[in-house]
Amino acid sequence: MVIADRIPARTALAAAVAEPGGEPDEVDALTLGRRIRDRRTALGMTLGELATAIDRAPSQVSSIENGKREPRLSMLRTIALALGTTVDDLLRADAPSERAALEIAVERAQRGPVFAALGLPTFRVAKGMSDQTLQTILALHHEIDRLHRERAATPEEARRANAELRAEMRARDNFYPELEAKAAELLEAVGHTGGPVSHQLVADMASHLGYSLHYVGDLPHSTRSVTDKRNGRIYLPTQQSPSRDSRSPILQALASHLLDHDEPRGYADFLRQRIETNYLTAAILLPEQAAVRFLTEAKNLRRISMEELRDAFAVSYETAAHRFTNLATARLDIPVHFMKVHESGTIIKAYENDRVRFPSDALGAVEGTTVCRNWTARTVFDVEDRFSPWYQYTDTSSGTFWCTSRIEKAKEGEYSVSVGVPFEHVKWFRGRETPHRAVSRCPDESCCRRAPGDLADKWADASWPAARTPTSLLAALPTGTFPGVDQTEVYQFLEAHAPRD
Ligand SMILES: [Zn+2]
Repeated sequence: MVIADRIPARTALAAAVAEPGGEPDEVDALTLGRRIRDRRTALGMTLGELATAIDRAPSQVSSIENGKREPRLSMLRTIALALGTTVDDLLRADAPSERAALEIAVERAQRGPVFAALGLPTFRVAKGMSDQTLQTILALHHEIDRLHRERAATPEEARRANAELRAEMRARDNFYPELEAKAAELLEAVGHTGGPVSHQLVADMASHLGYSLHYVGDLPHSTRSVTDKRNGRIYLPTQQSPSRDSRSPILQALASHLLDHDEPRGYADFLRQRIETNYLTAAILLPEQAAVRFLTEAKNLRRISMEELRDAFAVSYETAAHRFTNLATARLDIPVHFMKVHESGTIIKAYENDRVRFPSDALGAVEGTTVCRNWTARTVFDVEDRFSPWYQYTDTSSGTFWCTSRIEKAKEGEYSVSVGVPFEHVKWFRGRETPHRAVSRCPDESCCRRAPGDLADKWADASWPAARTPTSLLAALPTGTFPGVDQTEVYQFLEAHAPRD
């Protein structure tokens, strides 16, 4: 069995040749094969003669020399003996000559995923090929590889980081006591005694932390606020979009300061900072103590409602719904899920600890995938009445869930914001008497991803839609220390606005 043979061989080989920082991989088998062949030909030995000497089939020796197969350590000893050398010499990591190194590099490139993706036939490196030919092939390969990485690295890194963060949030029931404590401390410092947090109180928080607020008309377009840490100033736009809460950008700027955020080290760091910042902002706008009191009362009356939470604290529906997920499990014993879904069906944000099964891609990323058409997050778009809350029961592959959803408008289109709980917890919520029911068989494709048979039969060969290319398909994720922010613009802005002395 080739496979069974490979595993111990690889381990022995890897252990023998592993160098600090160097990953043992196929190059080792290739280099080893080359060393064996070089040694054999130097001795004037044929492939058949070596095969006989070690009591193996010539084809096996050939596979080893071509680096297609790694010999077990015991066989390697036999080979070394037959070639009058040592295992250590055969396992040296460097190629026997410069030409061999070049040939090995070309061979290795051909076996990698980048070359495979090009769909080109592989070739054997012949003796007659000049070094220059091989160098050019190698240079071309490296350039294609570089272009691939440049294009693919960022979105993939972001998606992976996002999936990891969601797993962490799930493990903590999306509740962060240390952030709650920071929010409580700041609220107490400015004498908040309950009720909604006013704009004036937020300004007081800023001055308590040593910052003054400056409203300007020329804030760099890629920012929501800019903080001058040297002079203790927070710059904010004079023009607020009417749907935006004027307190949020100030609190977000203060949150970064309170959390001692440094320049993000990468995308994962950036995402984590953003989650912490948003959490702290929401924890200030809906203080834990007051919000838990409000929600517990509602639970006792069996009428928990996102709209009432929103109105009681004068925040957006999304902020209220999101804040509910922080407190629901940790403080009210209710497992919950949350989704923000674009009108196209694409998931923008998602959180769950109630076993609802979100769609996900191969990397485990939920954001960017499409949610079932029968879920509340989608059906709400078909509801004409945009003022009343929308409730629905949905039977899914992981149980029955009850969800409430509301549409919010943004400049990129409409979004639904949904909160849902498993069937056994619906008794605490207003809207449980809804007659709306749906069945979702996703991820079974026949649920909503494939066209119904009769329609498909009729139209499959007679239709040609011209796709409107989604902008997100081609746009690379923003790059830079603060993704999407133009540093030059920010520095020039700060320079222009800094106080002169
Ligand atoms: Zn579906």
